[in-house]
Amino acid sequence: MAYQSLYRKYRPQRFSDVVGQEPITKAIGSQVTNDRLAHAYLFTGTRGTGKTTVAKILARAVNCSNVLEDGSPCGECDICRGISDGTLMNVIEIDAASNNGVDDVRTIIEEISYRPQSGKKKVYIIDEVHNLSLSAFNALLKTIEEPPDYALFILATTELGKVPITIRSRCQRYDFHRMTVDTIVHRMKKILSAEGIEADDKALGFIAVQADGSMRDALSLLDRCLAFNSGEELTYERTLDILGAVDVSVFSSFMKIISEGDLKGAIKLLDDVLMRGREIQIFVVDLISYMRNLLLISAGGRNGADISDVLGVSPDTYEDMKAVAAKFDVETLTRYIGIFSELTSEIRYSTQKRVLTEIAIVRLMQPKMQEDVASTRQRLAIIERKLDRIEREGIKTPAGSDKDSGHPDKPAKKAPLPEALPEDVKLVCDNWGRIVKNSQDMNKGILAEAQPSVRGNDLVIVCRDDVSAGSLKRSSDDLEAVLARETKKQIRFEIYGPEKGEDPEATFPDLRSMINFDEIKIVD
Ligand SMILES: [Zn+2]
Repeated sequence: MAYQSLYRKYRPQRFSDVVGQEPITKAIGSQVTNDRLAHAYLFTGTRGTGKTTVAKILARAVNCSNVLEDGSPCGECDICRGISDGTLMNVIEIDAASNNGVDDVRTIIEEISYRPQSGKKKVYIIDEVHNLSLSAFNALLKTIEEPPDYALFILATTELGKVPITIRSRCQRYDFHRMTVDTIVHRMKKILSAEGIEADDKALGFIAVQADGSMRDALSLLDRCLAFNSGEELTYERTLDILGAVDVSVFSSFMKIISEGDLKGAIKLLDDVLMRGREIQIFVVDLISYMRNLLLISAGGRNGADISDVLGVSPDTYEDMKAVAAKFDVETLTRYIGIFSELTSEIRYSTQKRVLTEIAIVRLMQPKMQEDVASTRQRLAIIERKLDRIEREGIKTPAGSDKDSGHPDKPAKKAPLPEALPEDVKLVCDNWGRIVKNSQDMNKGILAEAQPSVRGNDLVIVCRDDVSAGSLKRSSDDLEAVLARETKKQIRFEIYGPEKGEDPEATFPDLRSMINFDEIKIVD
């Protein structure tokens, strides 16, 4: 038999087997037994917290002909078996990461009109739902608003902020929390005893910390350890070897070097760690948790209180950590943790992990370096340039009629069209699909995905992403011509993309019009 990962092999089949999410499984289980189900659920939370697992159990439970006391599927009736072995098509799983277009959603909608042949419900599990395109979300919205009584939607996402509020408000939402180290260790012990494998607590504790709240990550790390350990007892040292991690004594040396301000020594230590084949990401994460322990000792342990049990370290290690902690004050340690926490997100997808880590080490050593000065200066320079230009050229509105572009398609110059009234703009919004379809605009695809709305006399166009918005802005003359041809009016419009770092909700047109920023725009 082919090897099955621990995560799959031990995937819970009942609500009561799901660990770490008891309030959620209890609530949903009782909805099943009392037949008070919502028609759409939204499961949110970081990866590996059990969203898909609970979705699968729920999908079987609503169909099972012999539901257990806690609302779980029996796992034995014809329906449960049919769903498990794939002969019954009551549960449809869609991965929105690879099926994100409007056509994919349309396929679902067309298919939903057929009742399930056996079982009670047709369940659609849409995983990573935030990947759907705007038009796909809109298509889905209509179905979720008025689904047939036999349909149930379960949407799962790791990025709630990217799910439109219109979808969110129509779902019953459950937030899946990160798993605690204890929960993860407990679960791993159970699995290992079922597998007949011994492991020491320190090894499991280490794996659980590495997994950072994700059961899936913990079990895949455990998979890796077991694969390299050929049935022997899994020790802490072996785990460090296999996972490319370093022992706590290395962090102790590192912090001593830092306290002496020895930059060269710190860089050399990093080099040694990497030369021994250790993973830089793991090193950084472990260093943060070591610093956090120092901080706890420094903040709470000074008055003689022994917190070694809280930290889960041996008495020897604890004595050493106390000596290291005494070299720093609470503020400094807090600042260090801040710098390295930033680093973890920076290096996650970077190819320059080592350089970024070295820069972070330099920052540790330079307390006076103000992190924001560079970016503040840069922003100031941009504002000054813009002000200069306003002084020189005055303020222009985008697509203003005084612009002399000489575009062949531009009727505004030849014979000025009357300015559009709100009704005109609304008409454009109502007929957006048709207008876009008829246009020869090379940005047709972008326009089709964009969200038009009325703000005063203006048309506001919110694009799916910044790149689309940029492309549309660059050829705004074309769009102007299309709108003029269509309405015989001069329609002013503004183009937005979901700005980086901003909550996507803020870019939705209704919120935009309430805030009313970007009133003055400079034409590039
Ligand atoms: Zn059943």
